[in-house]
Amino acid sequence: MKIPFVDLYAQYQTIKGDIDFAIESVIAQSAYIGGNYVSKFEKDYEAWLPAKHIISCANGTDSLEIILKAWNIGKGDEVIVPAMTWISTAEAVSNVGATPVFADVDSAYYTILPEEITAKITKNTKAIIPVHLYGQCANMPEIMKIARVNNLKVLEDCAQAHGAEIDGVRAGLWGDAASFSFYPGKNLGSYGDAGCITTNDDELFEMCKIITNHGQKGKHNHLIVGRNSRMDGMQAAILSAKLPNLDQWNNSRNEKGIYYNSNIDPEKYGLPQLRENSKHVFHIYSLVCKNRNYVVNELNNAGISTAVHYPTELPATKVYQSSEVFPNSKHMANHNLSIPIYPEMTIEQLDYVIDILNKI
Ligand SMILES: *Cc1c(COP(=O)(O)O)cnc(C)c1O
Repeated sequence: MKIPFVDLYAQYQTIKGDIDFAIESVIAQSAYIGGNYVSKFEKDYEAWLPAKHIISCANGTDSLEIILKAWNIGKGDEVIVPAMTWISTAEAVSNVGATPVFADVDSAYYTILPEEITAKITKNTKAIIPVHLYGQCANMPEIMKIARVNNLKVLEDCAQAHGAEIDGVRAGLWGDAASFSFYPGKNLGSYGDAGCITTNDDELFEMCKIITNHGQKGKHNHLIVGRNSRMDGMQAAILSAKLPNLDQWNNSRNEKGIYYNSNIDPEKYGLPQLRENSKHVFHIYSLVCKNRNYVVNELNNAGISTAVHYPTELPATKVYQSSEVFPNSKHMANHNLSIPIYPEMTIEQLDYVIDILNKI
């Protein structure tokens, strides 16, 4: 049996009619940039989340950077980010001229530790970017308390967590603003690059709109130096066509994650832990291996693809070169392994992965 890490074509086949119709409609109307499909997706996503404002943009990395810029965060400012996340979280901070300050993550839930945030706050700290890594929410109730006491902004990086919840509140609705990515492999993925910003703050909404659209408020009225960051019509139409399936896909990922947890041998692997009162949407299912290379090889020989998220904790990358040690993030970088999980996986495929893992 061959099991890819993700199977985007399998998903396309389940919704082919809707996707083909969406693409044909965009072409028939030449609605490539701006227009109906983009505003429709913004409305659809607003209603789904539900949030007051959605600002679509070109990708998830841009959405982080645009929010920071709209808050006027830049040179001399510090933003606290987890040491274990995709590079975008820190990169966005660096790209606005501010300094990412790393905090270690929880060894059980893999998200930024509130006490580590508190320890990293200085007079220059302006914001915190919690990441809902792998599809499970960070400890938002605690993070929001710390932020309010210290007068810091909270920007949730929801790139891996469309639909995740904690205490009955969805990722993206806790902070002052949130960023989503619609990279093809994400829980809601386009057929190219796309992203969005969400906020309930009217002023921030206006500012983000202006920044994404060349600093314009209305045509040719350039107020500030902006940029071009837009979602194209084709991606918007595809995302609107896919959105009605998202809750069901997330439920399926959640069930599959729990199935893995109940069937993979816990003597052999560290299994992901689920927070109480929360919903994990398993963008990634990550195991802890004693000898990762060996496991990767055995799975590969059995036709099962894997990935590592991520092989280096950000402070240890060449770009950030910090001498500080982040033990939990470092342990993840050396031992965590992502195995296939996607809504279209069959029970036979899941059982096969479990069987091979338990025989290693
Ligand atoms: C995917 C991802 C991003 C960036 O998304 P792009 O759309 O690829 O720019 C940001 N943060 C995290 C945690 C991600 O996983």
